[in-house]
Amino acid sequence: MGKNGDFIIEEIQEKLHKIGKTDPATSWLHPDGSGEIMSGKFCDTCKAELYSDPGVNDLELYLHAFKYESSTDKGWGYETELPYWAIEQQTKMMDLALEQANKCVPMDNAFCVGCVITHNGKVISTGYTRELEGNTHAEQNALAKYFDAHPGEELPTGCELYTTMEPCSFRLSGNMPCLNRILDLKKHFTTVYVGVMEPGDFVQNNVSYDQLTSNGVSYLKVPGFQEKSMEVAKRGHKKPDVEVSAETERNDKQ
Ligand SMILES: [Zn+2]
Repeated sequence: MGKNGDFIIEEIQEKLHKIGKTDPATSWLHPDGSGEIMSGKFCDTCKAELYSDPGVNDLELYLHAFKYESSTDKGWGYETELPYWAIEQQTKMMDLALEQANKCVPMDNAFCVGCVITHNGKVISTGYTRELEGNTHAEQNALAKYFDAHPGEELPTGCELYTTMEPCSFRLSGNMPCLNRILDLKKHFTTVYVGVMEPGDFVQNNVSYDQLTSNGVSYLKVPGFQEKSMEVAKRGHKKPDVEVSAETERNDKQ
């Protein structure tokens, strides 16, 4: 569009019609980027016209739309969910984490969480809440089980951690939060994938997103797991019937 948002629709249509055919896509960031156009060559087999290689603007379109963030002021940012075609592996691994969460013995004052640690696309450890003795957490157990099974070894670099609920950043028990356990091993983790954010039922203001991302570990929510993860997490919790009984009480007094 031109100055003041003025435009002539025919001109825009004509311009868009040429993009990716005779004219490559351009942007303010890469105004001269050579991009994908029809090459004038044809496929030997199906005779379809072939495109030239994509350029920087074609390749950046998705990333650009995925996340907007101020480079100077971290106070604002916007991120879309990952598209379904980009998360086949993540969906598979989060399903496994959910299977782990389902093994938890439910308790009314804690969440049921499952965790899977992967390296090069393979599962190298799993854990769930209270799997190991005591008031233990899923991520804590997955890490402990890895080190038990590989005495004297470090975690490989480039690991990914899947957890059905984001790592805790504060524990009422005074035990070390899972966030700190992951941060201690931050050189070994590229990404933490979560199914659902921690609700404020027991502890408010989970800071795992800020802490992980500012320490070089990516934090991504895998789309499609919010409800499933929360449902498993709250198994054994009493249904919130407070309002109902308060209402009943009021009615009784009338
Ligand atoms: Zn935890």
